[in-house]
Amino acid sequence: MKVSEIFYSIQGEGTNIGVPSVFLRLAVCNLQCSWCDSRYTWDWERYDYNKEVKEMNVSKVCERIQEYDCRHLVITGGEPMLQQSELASLLPPLQQCGFDFEIETNGTIVPTEPLVNSIGQWNVSPKTSNSENSVDCRERSEAYAYFRKLPNAYFKYVVSSDEDLNEIMNLIAKYQIPRSRVILMPEASSEHELLEKNAWLSAICKINGFRFTTRLQIILYGNKRGT
Ligand code: SF4
Repeated sequence: MKVSEIFYSIQGEGTNIGVPSVFLRLAVCNLQCSWCDSRYTWDWERYDYNKEVKEMNVSKVCERIQEYDCRHLVITGGEPMLQQSELASLLPPLQQCGFDFEIETNGTIVPTEPLVNSIGQWNVSPKTSNSENSVDCRERSEAYAYFRKLPNAYFKYVVSSDEDLNEIMNLIAKYQIPRSRVILMPEASSEHELLEKNAWLSAICKINGFRFTTRLQIILYGNKRGT
């Protein structure tokens, strides 16, 4: 597997915010978001692939994950769904050891059945125009429609400004996503920016019946790797 990092921390975003978790961050992504804070997983013009990516077999990854006294695994990236066949081999033995799983994906790749059967929660984070990816790359209708049907999939949108809201409203109407499964999260890389946007965006969530999430890892640790 192409692994960026494995570490223990607190889930900082989404419905499981605050839950102590082991993180498996997989390398490589199929998008190039302008505000991506994990470019070291995919941007080989700025980062050195040989330094950033550890190529590990599934059993080694399985062993590393079990080193922590925690049985909740968050699979993130990069785009972890690019390695879904490897994940389909990794998860069952971990499940037998008592693990449950949530996975963070940009929602552009349809999952295969073995993975769907293993994952407890899908944190789907579809990108909008503020990411500066082309529409063709970022909005894959077959994947959107698939995740819409999974009852354990939440849709987490990164919001930079008021202009993003119309686009998000159009997307959730187009794919008929229930508001109770929509989460808005501020785009922010510093604590100061995050705290300012928390107040603005949480008020919007109250008006529209969306969930709100902050980015707890920035408040607790700053914008650092391995957190
Ligand atoms: S999808 Fe995620 S990892 Fe990929 S570029 Fe966008 S923010 Fe970064």
